[in-house]
Amino acid sequence: MRKKQQITCIVCPLSCTIEVEEKDGAYTASGHECSRGEKYALQETLDPRRVLTGTVRVDGGRVPRLPVKTTSPIPKALILEAARLLDEITVKAPLRCGELIVKDFAGSGADLVATRSLEAGGRQQEPGSQRPEGGE
Ligand code: SF4
Repeated sequence: MRKKQQITCIVCPLSCTIEVEEKDGAYTASGHECSRGEKYALQETLDPRRVLTGTVRVDGGRVPRLPVKTTSPIPKALILEAARLLDEITVKAPLRCGELIVKDFAGSGADLVATRSLEAGGRQQEPGSQRPEGGE
C-alpha cells in the first residue's frame, strides 16, 4: 500500500514542498533541494519533534516567571504533558542563563534550562517593562 503526504520544509527560507511516500513500510522523500530537507521531512513524518519553550515560577524574585526551554527538540506527543509539568516547577535565584533546571525533562532525553539569568536579591525587571525617561 502506498501513502503520500506533503510537508513544507522549515529548515531554511526556501520552504521547499517535500513529498514523503510510504511503500510497504519504507519511507522516501522527493522534492527537497538538499539533504537537510530530506532529513527534516523523514523526521517530521516518522518522529516529529519540537523544542518546548515556556516559563516556570520564581520564588522570592522580582520577576514572577523565568523563561525556560528544552536543550533539544522533544517528541511532539510529549509536548502537552511537558508543558503541564512546567506549572509544577519553582526555581530560586540566583540562576545563570543556560543553567540546568530539570535533567531529562518529562523523560524526553532533553534537559530543561533557563534562558535568562536571575540575580539573587538583585533588581530584576521584565524585558520591556522599563519606563521611558521622564514618562509616567
Ligand atoms: S529542502 Fe533544503 S533548500 Fe529546501 S527548504 Fe529545506 S533546507 Fe531549504
